[in-house]
Amino acid sequence: MRNFLIAGNWKMNCGISATTELLNGIKEITTSLPKGVDGLVCPPSISLHAAANVLQGIEGLSLGAQNVHFEDNGAYTGEISTQMLNEIGCEYVILGHSERREYFGETDKIVNAKVLKSLDDDLKIVICVGESLKERKADEHKLRVRKQIQAALTAVEEKDAAKVVIAYEPIWAIGTGETATPDQAQEMHKMIRSVLEGVFSQKKAEKIRILYGGSMKPHNAEELLQQPDVDGGLIGGASLKADSFTEIIDIADQLSS
Ligand code: PEP
Repeated sequence: MRNFLIAGNWKMNCGISATTELLNGIKEITTSLPKGVDGLVCPPSISLHAAANVLQGIEGLSLGAQNVHFEDNGAYTGEISTQMLNEIGCEYVILGHSERREYFGETDKIVNAKVLKSLDDDLKIVICVGESLKERKADEHKLRVRKQIQAALTAVEEKDAAKVVIAYEPIWAIGTGETATPDQAQEMHKMIRSVLEGVFSQKKAEKIRILYGGSMKPHNAEELLQQPDVDGGLIGGASLKADSFTEIIDIADQLSS
């Protein structure tokens, strides 16, 4: 019922030539993603234009940005706007990644402003949420994630539910090689869906994709994607190689058919 979404967050990797090379590598493996899987790549903003050109030759693989500002334009040195993303051909934007929250001071309030602006300008959004190791050890992980989602979705209208994707990314699993167990992931994803049911109607919440992120690789993707509320992955390291990224897409395809 929910198509898998396999999304690559390239972070601060791949300038224009590396972006073209990586996407051409994917194109050599496949020019059309399987029907049951939607793909997404999110290169750095400087490489979005080059990526858009190559992506024209890969059906089912969309383009996304890693961040956006909440104002239309003006004196915001170093920032990019939703309209710029629209113009370049971005369909998605990642918002509230833990690295943005930790290194760039993004608060729940800022994330919410970016959510509202992006939806207004017709971008699909991948809202990242997740707890620290300290919060998990203190058994505060569910509360933390619930609050992040409620804050991010404040004032979001029911009509925009279809443009929302949530990525559950335990901070202790990002780039560490450690993953949540399938049971831990399912437990959180189920809780996230119940939070979404409090924000939107149950029917809409059922359709929202909840991705798992945190050291997802070809060797652990199957057990995570098998969980009933895990609808895809937000993938960092393993999305930087054409073969590992397409391998995860193939695993999702096998599970969807
Ligand atoms: C991420 O940064 O969103 C991420 C999940 O990274 P990694 O897969 O490298 O842990």
